[in-house]
This record gives sequence, structure tokens and C-alpha cells, in this order.
Amino acid sequence: MKTLVWVEHDGATVKDATLAVVTAASQLGEVHLIVAGQGVDAVAAEAAKIAGVGKVHVADDAAYAHALAENVAPLVVQLMADHDAVLFPATSGGKNIAPRVAALLDVMQISDILSVESEDTFTRPIYAGNAIATVQTKDAKKVITVRGTAFEKAATEGGSGTIEAVATTGDSGVSTYVGSEIATSERPELTSAKIIVSGGRALGSGEQFHALIDPLADKLGAGVGASRAAVDAGYAPNDYQVGQTGKIVAPEVYVAIGISGAIQHLAGMKDSKTIIAINKDEDAPIFQVADLGLVGDLFKIVPELTEKL
Ligand code: FAD
Repeated sequence: MKTLVWVEHDGATVKDATLAVVTAASQLGEVHLIVAGQGVDAVAAEAAKIAGVGKVHVADDAAYAHALAENVAPLVVQLMADHDAVLFPATSGGKNIAPRVAALLDVMQISDILSVESEDTFTRPIYAGNAIATVQTKDAKKVITVRGTAFEKAATEGGSGTIEAVATTGDSGVSTYVGSEIATSERPELTSAKIIVSGGRALGSGEQFHALIDPLADKLGAGVGASRAAVDAGYAPNDYQVGQTGKIVAPEVYVAIGISGAIQHLAGMKDSKTIIAINKDEDAPIFQVADLGLVGDLFKIVPELTEKL
């Protein structure tokens, strides 16, 4: 099989999410990449070094500068004349483009795969991760999104892909880039952080959330996450949300502070290697998935823990 992987990047470097997708694609067959953007020579050069990559198709055009899905989808469809499957990370970016590609190719999308069982069979989570479905497709052209936490990341060095320019498909004229507001943080990004400290509704206010969670996260060099209740209450920004409708994470260590452990939250973090929970209710469901639990008042425990660290 010849596979195509859409490279997610920020205009300067390849995003980590792409690496797990390369691993998934390599289990299907030959791996080619598509780098779409404007002024993306450095991204293409970096992509060509990813282990296991054969060809890197580069589409350098103003139409792809902001990865507008309406412009990128026809480009991917054009390349699919010569590929059997296209894989995207199941990130906001990938999930924006993939369905459009599937619609244009008139095939079913296979979403959020956890494993490749064979050329046409995959597993994927259903019911917020409470069951795993094995799905088989009869489509000749496959459009797949990949859950990044389910696959090892391909090595960023060791590959020697050939870079080839491809004909651009131009501006579809149906959407226009207006502007973006991008949150910047010194902390590691949630989906790639090795340690995550998450706060819940129990923190009580935005001030208390930052006063307690941030110093602990800084001590541990951790990313900061939050439950949906904390986000909805305005204690933490939207992009902190972990869970079914937030980010799916699987760090080495996940510290859940004042989070009850609702199934929608667990859906986003239960694959973490070590889960540490701090909660005053010893019957809180979070303790059912926790490896280490501290029963007590977070307003006492967290400052003490931060100080001792
Ligand atoms: P609560 O459930 O209110 O829990 C607070 C916890 O803090 C309690 O366990 C309490 O014992 C403890 N506590 C209180 N005071 C203290 C203290 N002083 N010291 C120590 N512990 C204390 N939720 C998500 O997180 N992510 C999602 O993506 C998500 N998606 C959803 C999608 C749908 C369709 C629906 C219906 C819900 C979704 N939810 C999601 C919401 C989810 O069901 C829960 O409501 C939410 O996770 C609860 O957040 P919480 O644990 O912070 O708050």
C-alpha cells in the first residue's frame, strides 16, 4: 500500500502529532508525506528526516499558508490518485481536513484509530472510550485519523526522504483567513507533555487555580490541564480541557487535583502511565483509576507538596 500522511506544522517545524501518524502509516505500507504551506522549505527538510519516510510532496503556495481546510482538501484529493490511504492526526487541524477529503473521494472516514489490524481493519474507541470497536472498510481509498497517544512516535532522525514539489490546486475561494489568537505558554504542550497537573472545579476560582496548580506544575516541568467544569467556570482557558470533548493525553504522570473522575474526563486521561489523584472524597471515582491517591483537602496538600518538591 502507498500511504500519504498530512504533515501538521506551524510554518517552521513539524508538530509532534505527525510522528505518531507516520508510525501508523508505516504499518500499512510505504509512507509519503504532504507538506502544504507557504515558505515551508525548512518544514519539508525536517519531514524528510523522519525515519521511514519515502517521498515528501511539497505544495508551497499562499493558498496553504494558514492550512485552510477548504484549500488543503482538494490538494490531498489530487495526490490520492496515486495513493491508497491518507492519514491525519486526530487533532483540530487533522479533523478539519480529513472529513472534507473523505467527502470529495466519496468514501467513509475511519476516525481516531488506536491500532492497525490489517490493510483494511482498524480499532477505534466508542462510547467515550468505554468500548473498542474493530472496524473494517471496503473502500479502495482510505481516509483515516489517528489517535496520537495510541502509537509510538517515529524517530525525527534517520530518514532520507526525497522532496518533490507538487502542482498546487490554488485557492478554492470559499474561505478566507482573517486572523488568529494563539495562546503562548512556556509550559509543555498538553498532548506532548510528559507530566500533566490538572485542576478541577474544587479549585473554586481562577486565582486559586493558578495560585495552586501553576507552582506545582512549574516544579515538575509539567503541562497544565483542567476538567471541563473548571474550564466552564472560567478558572482555566478552553485549550486546557482534558477529556472526551477536550484533549486526549497519555503522559508518564497525570496529577488530578480536585477532579471527581467523571467518565468524560477519564476518556481523555485514563491511558496515562501513572495517575495521582488528590481529592477530599475517598469515594470519588478518580480513585478507581488512580495508582496513587491522597485523600484530603487540596488547599492544604498542594502547597505542602509544592514546597517539599
Ligand atoms: P466535580 O465533579 O464537581 O468534582 C470536584 C471534585 O473535587 C469532587 O470529587 C470533590 O470531592 C473534590 N473536592 C472538592 N473540594 C475539595 C478540596 N478542598 N480538596 C480536595 N478535593 C476537593 N469533563 C471533562 O473534564 N472533560 C471533558 O472533555 C468533558 N466532556 C463532556 C462531554 C459531555 C457530553 C458531557 C455531558 C460532560 C462532559 N464533561 C467533561 C463533564 C463531566 O461529566 C464532569 O461534569 C466534569 O468532568 C466534572 O469536573 P470536576 O471533576 O472538576 O468537578
